[in-house]
Formats: sequence, C-alpha cells, structure tokens
Amino acid sequence: MTHSGDISEFFKHYGDNSRFLKTALRQFSNDDLMNFFREKGLGIIIDKNGKAFPRSGNSRDVLAILIDECKKNNVRINYNEAVLKVEKRDRGFWIKTKNNEYICHKLVISTGGKSYPSSGSSGDGYDLAEDLGHTIVSPKPALTPVFIKDYKLGEISGVSLQNRTVYLYRDNKKIREHRGDIGFTHTGLSGPGILDFSRYMEKKDILKIDFANRKGEDFTRTFIEAAEREGKISIGKFLKGYDIPVSLVRIILMELGLDRNEKLAFINKKMRTRVVDSFCEYPFVIENIGGFDIAMVTRGGISLNEVSSKTIESKLVKDLFFAGEVLDIDGDTGGYNIQAAFSTGYLAAISLGSTGA
Ligand SMILES: Cc1cc2nc3c(=O)[nH]c(=O)nc-3n(C[C@H](O)[C@H](O)[C@H](O)COP(=O)(O)OP(=O)(O)OC[C@H]3O[C@@H](n4cnc5c(N)ncnc54)[C@H](O)[C@@H]3O)c2cc1C
Repeated sequence: MTHSGDISEFFKHYGDNSRFLKTALRQFSNDDLMNFFREKGLGIIIDKNGKAFPRSGNSRDVLAILIDECKKNNVRINYNEAVLKVEKRDRGFWIKTKNNEYICHKLVISTGGKSYPSSGSSGDGYDLAEDLGHTIVSPKPALTPVFIKDYKLGEISGVSLQNRTVYLYRDNKKIREHRGDIGFTHTGLSGPGILDFSRYMEKKDILKIDFANRKGEDFTRTFIEAAEREGKISIGKFLKGYDIPVSLVRIILMELGLDRNEKLAFINKKMRTRVVDSFCEYPFVIENIGGFDIAMVTRGGISLNEVSSKTIESKLVKDLFFAGEVLDIDGDTGGYNIQAAFSTGYLAAISLGSTGA
C-alpha cells in the first residue's frame, strides 16, 4: 500500500520528477495513509524492506474500505461507463461517456497510466488531457523486466543476487548506475534493481553488472595478491569468497573456457582481465524493455510544467485537476506509486474544495 520509511526519504524514489510531489507527499504522507486505513479497522504489516501490506494479504480489504467511504460520503460510482470525450464549455466541462453526457464545474482526471491495460487503464487520460490543451510526455513502460539479446543465463532463471551495482551504457558511454537486487528470468533480467532502473533504459543500451560486488580494480588487486600468495588455489575456490551463486560462476567460467580447477598462478594477464570484466562488469545488451502489458507503471504522462505542484490544478485550464499515474510521475517498487496516487488524489480533493463550488 505504501512504504513505511521516513517521508523525507520518499523523494529519492521518483526519478528526476520527485520535487513535484513535495506538497502532495507532505499534505498526505505515508503515515496519514496508514492511519486512515487503521482507523477504518484495517490491520497493516510492514515487511523487512519497509513495505506496508494489509495484514490479511488481501487487497479487497483495502478496496472495501474505500468503497464504504465513498458510500458514506454520497459519492456515486458509475461503473462500466468509460469517458470518451471531454470539452471545456462556458458552463464548465462537458463529458461524454459511453451512455451519457454530463456537465460539471470541476474535473479531476485520474485515469492512470497505460500499463497493465487489463486493469482498466489504457491511456485514455492522455487523450482527454491533450484535447484540453495539455502536453503529454511520451508514455513508456517502467518498472518492467528487460529482455536481453543472446541471453545465456536462462538456465539459472529464478536465481537472484542481493544488492549489486548495475551500470547503464549508451553509445559506449556510462550514463547512470544503480544498486539493487537482481533476478534472472528465462529471457532476461528482473528484480527491484532492474525494475526501478528500467525507467532510464532504452533498446540497445548495455547493462553491466558487478556480480562480484567489488569494483574491478579491487577485484584485480585481490586476484593478483591471491595468485602471488597462494598461487595453488583454484579459480573456483577463489570465487567462493564473492557470494556469487555457483550456477552463475559455472556458466561464466564455461564462457571464458576456464576450468574451475585452474590454479590462479597459471592464469595469464589476458585471461585475468577477461575474468575481471566478466565478474565485475558482465555485459548484457538490451534487446527490448518489457511492454505495457507487463510494466507495473508508466513513465511519461501529463507534463508537470503545466500543472501546479501546490494545488495539482492545471495551469492551462481553470478547475481542471489531475491525480495519480496519469501525471508524468513514476516511482520505484515498494509502495511509492500507490502513495503518489493517494497523495495527489488528496491534494486534488483539498484544492477542489478550497477553490469554491
Ligand atoms: C501488477 C501491478 C502491481 C503493482 N504493484 C504496486 C505496488 O505494490 N505498490 C505500488 O505503489 N504500486 C504498484 N503498482 C502501481 C500502482 O498500482 C499504480 O501506480 C496506481 O494504481 C495508480 O493509481 P491511479 O489511481 O493513478 O490509476 P489506476 O489505479 O490505474 O486507476 C485508474 C482508473 O481509471 C479508470 N479509467 C481509465 N480510463 C478511463 C475512462 N476513459 N473512463 C473512465 N474510467 C477510466 C480505470 O478503469 C481505473 O479504474 C502496481 C501496478 C501493477 C499493474
């Protein structure tokens, strides 16, 4: 539902657009969200990574509370009635749905992103906002696994590595780095360290992963020292000191054409450099980023330059507000997206109320 960390820590988790959320997250923080649900009787548990879940493990319990609150506050929900068109007219907004037409004085667009269209959000909000004059930052899948070209690690799918550094290269230049847990799939890479970083990745980029969890120079130094001091130890034994799954070590050594029993003292400088490269900067060429069908969030959306971060009201169209993922905001895994949706929703509700009927 959210993350239990200090709210000031949240700002690191929304890529380059965190600042926009300052007012929203402070107005309705993670504590406010958890307290709201606790007061309505929901048990909440926090896991070892700080993520907050309903104690029952059942999202229906969260939904039931929200629907109940809507009922108590006379909010009418018109199901199965997609909004097809919105226009600003003299008397307010004109809204055309599948079955009806409506007029309202104030409008909040909170139609979500484009990812997981099976959950109802297929990007309609972008068209509605664009028709009202807003600019859309091109929506792309984020929080998504990546597919790797000529992937050789499919046989260890399910294996994961804790807290490794991933370097992102584009046109032979290192452009970013990130740390997190990495998971191997049948076709590529996943896990929080990849999902959270995926917002910056493009097709054909190269990811290099430090499997040994040591910078290359450090690994090289230890390698040389070990070869000098105890040259008789095997490369297999040497690598055991690095918390790398045996199955991964086996595949990499096979790729290098190196027997795991080879003594360190007999590994020449050229091969040593290849060993260091493979274990400290193993390259993966991105064939594709997972599509909207499997991405958990959408990066891009309604341009933040045209929305007030203080009131979440459009700077272009009076009485038009936005909330949630339809905005150009995407958070890391761990509850940051739902929190952003609740916080911006809350801010929109307060701003609606304070600007008169
Ligand atoms: C599989 C999955 C797992 C996730 N896990 C987490 C997690 O653990 N923690 C986390 O923080 N985030 C998670 N997210 C992301 C999070 O769910 C979203 O960021 C969040 O729900 C966005 O809220 P929203 O209200 O902006 O949009 P949504 O929740 O997408 O709601 C948008 C609503 O608008 C409706 N709608 C769309 N178009 C129209 C239209 N034309 N007319 C009428 N209604 C329309 C849709 O039917 C939908 O009900 C996950 C997402 C997915 C897909």
